[in-house]
Amino acid sequence: MKVYLVGAGPGDPELITVKGKTLLEKADLIVYAGSLVNPKLLEYARSEAVKVDSAPKTLEEIVELMVEYARAGKVVVRLQTGDPSLYGAVEEQKRALKAYGVELEWIPGVSSFLGATARLGLELTVPDGTQTVILSRIAGRTSVPEKEDLTELAKIGSTLVLFLSVDKIDEVVEKISRVRDLKTPVAVVYKATFPEEKIILGTLADISEKVKQEKISKTALIFVGEFLDPPATRSKLYDPNFSHGGRGQSD
Ligand code: SAH
Repeated sequence: MKVYLVGAGPGDPELITVKGKTLLEKADLIVYAGSLVNPKLLEYARSEAVKVDSAPKTLEEIVELMVEYARAGKVVVRLQTGDPSLYGAVEEQKRALKAYGVELEWIPGVSSFLGATARLGLELTVPDGTQTVILSRIAGRTSVPEKEDLTELAKIGSTLVLFLSVDKIDEVVEKISRVRDLKTPVAVVYKATFPEEKIILGTLADISEKVKQEKISKTALIFVGEFLDPPATRSKLYDPNFSHGGRGQSD
């Protein structure tokens, strides 16, 4: 017995995987995270399919419902925003389902940070610059280990992508500004790939003000780093003096 855990992608219903869409088309039961998943995705489902928003439900209620359908041999889809592996609260569902002998089969999704990056139209890694991307968040109801405090992470100088943090933009800016120049570029992407999407560009000095002016306090990602203002260098990949692939190098 199994439940398909499907990554819904960032918002645009065309950004789900082919496999995810096929499962939605076949599903008898779809339990979706109503606060973030685009309801348009449910239009892929058959009209007879049962569609349940998990937002107002407890873990136990969600699990019991999925188990009931899975036991009856039905196709059950748990639809979660972006990719389930990031801030997805999957582990607790996995454990609870396992107690009933139900396994999860994971279908990845395009994470919202990749949806937002595509909308920015920029590479997160910078030729001759940072080669590292840190995905993190500020502490909220969920704690963050001390070593991963934003000031510590920002010291590295890499690209920073912050989930679940825009409601604390002042604190984010304050922590990063301790170790990064106030001119460091910052972008906030609200509801990436949805029709309501907003992209706010600024620096550590002014982003907080701009975000408040737009009244953005949720469903947004914060991007920090030089990648937002990339230097005009070129990568080695297409350099005529660089050998790669068939020409003998692995990089
Ligand atoms: N698993 C999801 C993240 C879930 S946590 C993923 O891979 O994207 C929820 C947080 O994700 C939100 O607070 C916000 O920071 C971010 N998020 C989700 N969808 C978003 C979107 N369309 N645009 C911007 N941020 C989004």
